[in-house]
Amino acid sequence: MARIVRTVRGDVAPGELGPTDAHEHLFFTTPLQPGDDFSDLGCAIEEARALVTAGARTMVDWTPVGLGRDPEGLLRVSEATGLHVVAATGAHREGHYPDGHPLRAETAEGLASRFEADVGDKAAPSGVIKIGASYHHLTPFERKVFAAAAQAHHCTGAPVCVHTELGTMGLRIVEELAQLGVPATSVLLAHLDRNPDPGEHAETGATGAWLQLDGPGRAKYWPDSVILKLIDDLAERGLGGRLLLGGDTGRRSMMRSYGGGPGLDYLFARFKPRLERELGRELSHRIFVENAAQALAFEPTWRPRD
Ligand SMILES: [Zn+2]
Repeated sequence: MARIVRTVRGDVAPGELGPTDAHEHLFFTTPLQPGDDFSDLGCAIEEARALVTAGARTMVDWTPVGLGRDPEGLLRVSEATGLHVVAATGAHREGHYPDGHPLRAETAEGLASRFEADVGDKAAPSGVIKIGASYHHLTPFERKVFAAAAQAHHCTGAPVCVHTELGTMGLRIVEELAQLGVPATSVLLAHLDRNPDPGEHAETGATGAWLQLDGPGRAKYWPDSVILKLIDDLAERGLGGRLLLGGDTGRRSMMRSYGGGPGLDYLFARFKPRLERELGRELSHRIFVENAAQALAFEPTWRPRD
């Protein structure tokens, strides 16, 4: 069966994705970021338009269940802008769900059926299954979500996208998922640049897992030069074919449409041209086009629309 990428508007051939922003949020609501929520459709369309103008053809939205996830909203954005949008199902790390949140009480089987239904949804399907880990450890809730995501991966074929806390535990997460039957090549590890250690990530990448860097534009924590150096080091170690890049604009205050910055288009408008100048167009094309198409593609167990 042919490998496809599942977008909110339906399945597309991996070669159709073009330049891809592998990690963003167009809607996000969490008690961990009071005052920094965003859920406005008009603002989402405005940000997505800017991203398209800056050269992106595809974007992956990593907002999971219970945190403002809005697949119909993503569908509207995609229709309004022409941007391919890959939506996520799944759940974040435990800290985002307060005591008493209904998701905490669900069984692994219940979560798995929910994730499978989201990937198979006819109106606005999800194309990735998100899970989350805490800082250097997994909580019982997170283990339950890992098990549910693995089950949903077996059922649907969709890749598993992982929030790592401050870039920790990449290899261990790949090992945990391998024990649950998820191959490393179906695992995308986010936020690895929070721990900019090329030696550690090269070991993780050697398993075949995808290494995602998604912190450009966060000058208050570290300059973009740190991420460029990390990309250079990883490419030097032969990992250029495992890298993905995203902007992860996960706060209202990071969106220009809400009066903040640097905006959803920063990755493409500012970081990508600099990457091309400093490390070459070939590596940039590999990361934004070839790697993204490969990482997001899967053989679907069923087709939600035909
Ligand atoms: Zn994110």
